Amino acid sequence: MNRRELIRHFFNISILGSITSLTSISNSYANNVSKVVILGAGWGGLSAAKTIKKLNPSISVTVIEQNKDFQSCPVSNWVIGDLKSMDDITFSYDSLKNNYSIEFLHEKAEKINFNKKNISTEDNIIEYDKLILSPGIELDYSNIENWTNDSNIVFPAAWKAGKETELLAKQVKNINDGGVVCISIPLSPYRCPPGPYERASLIASYLSKYKKRSKLIILDANEKIVSKGKLFMDFWKTNYSNIIEYRANSGVVGVDNDRVLITDFDDIKCDVANIIPKQRVSKFLKDNNLVEDGKNWAPVNAFDFSSTIQKDVFIIGDSTSQSDVGRVPKSGYIANSMGKVCGLAVVSELMDMEKLTPSMINTCYSLVSDKEGISVSAVYTYDTNSKKIIPTSSGLSPKSSKIIKKNAWDWAQNIWEDMLL
Ligand SMILES: Cc1cc2nc3c(=O)[nH]c(=O)nc-3n(C[C@H](O)[C@H](O)[C@H](O)COP(=O)(O)OP(=O)(O)OC[C@H]3O[C@@H](n4cnc5c(N)ncnc54)[C@H](O)[C@@H]3O)c2cc1C
Repeated sequence: MNRRELIRHFFNISILGSITSLTSISNSYANNVSKVVILGAGWGGLSAAKTIKKLNPSISVTVIEQNKDFQSCPVSNWVIGDLKSMDDITFSYDSLKNNYSIEFLHEKAEKINFNKKNISTEDNIIEYDKLILSPGIELDYSNIENWTNDSNIVFPAAWKAGKETELLAKQVKNINDGGVVCISIPLSPYRCPPGPYERASLIASYLSKYKKRSKLIILDANEKIVSKGKLFMDFWKTNYSNIIEYRANSGVVGVDNDRVLITDFDDIKCDVANIIPKQRVSKFLKDNNLVEDGKNWAPVNAFDFSSTIQKDVFIIGDSTSQSDVGRVPKSGYIANSMGKVCGLAVVSELMDMEKLTPSMINTCYSLVSDKEGISVSAVYTYDTNSKKIIPTSSGLSPKSSKIIKKNAWDWAQNIWEDMLL
């Protein structure tokens, strides 16, 4: 098997399934210890770290992550719907760290020096040969009038899994029977297109069981449901017609004390208010000039996720611009695929091997109740004409079913294992 065939073989199984160890082979190609630094131990960063170590254990990989544990956004809506606890979606980085000899630095990254090829935290400066950035998103409340620094205690977003997830779950649980829950959904693109509608479904499912007289108002800034629209709508009509009121083109433009949400049409008094604000590229990328002025997302080459602005820098995950990558959703599964494509590209550069054309996959499961789910899947490839990632096939589940709920949980367990073990 020549090097090209070898890497193609690896690539196919790494993107579509488990990764085979190439320890002995890769060692023979590596002469010097190359240093890869990865910012962000979320869905993109972990996948890139493990891919690189699987391909070539002799490459030094350091991950900079501000949090001590991994808390999963996928399945965090299940916590809000009272189906799982935060413990069920919180994991240690230790197994990955020990199994693959990956260094973890639990600090906040502050600055990149592109000339000296280093990235610094408050206490450390770490040198790199290749730098992979997967810092996720920034929540942007700038268009919401009267928003203050502690408004998120009253109006938790719960759009990064953690304390706000717990807070929102508690608020929903404690609502009086007959109370009103509001969810506000920002204009697309945002992280996890079907996520807000899954959350609405699970809150409605909870209310229909335990607080039957309560209501859920969905204030959507978009003109219609962004993902799996008909499947959500059909389920809501059949099961939650007394609970859910869906209002399109109704972005929240302001808040008032005492849980009032202001849209262009109405002031709505809520007992629980979940504001999911608009989103943009992580501030870290903006501060380090990896985003053009006036743009909201980071530009990359879709072939290998290299930055179009800085050499030896790669950007993956939710921070990337769909105008460059193509119309892939901002999802954990896609971030995981990007991590594999990018990890392989970085190893190819370090080992002076030809890069291969990427392909990626995404399946997005959403629960519509405590018992049933719906899904959408797509396979993507790199299109040499447009230089973007395009879908080659895709499909929606025909209707909701119990088996999809089971598939959703199996998927989550498999992909957590893929990233963290
Ligand atoms: C409610 C909800 C449900 C979802 N459900 C699904 C689902 O079912 N399926 C699916 O595929 N996707 C789902 N997603 C989307 C998925 O969570 C994101 O697409 C994914 O997390 C993106 O990965 P990422 O690596 O870009 O960012 P993240 O996973 O957010 O990782 C970024 C990491 O970088 C760290 N970081 C950032 N800046 C710094 C810094 N300066 N210094 C140190 N560390 C830093 C952060 O702490 C974080 O750990 C869901 C999202 C939400 C909110």
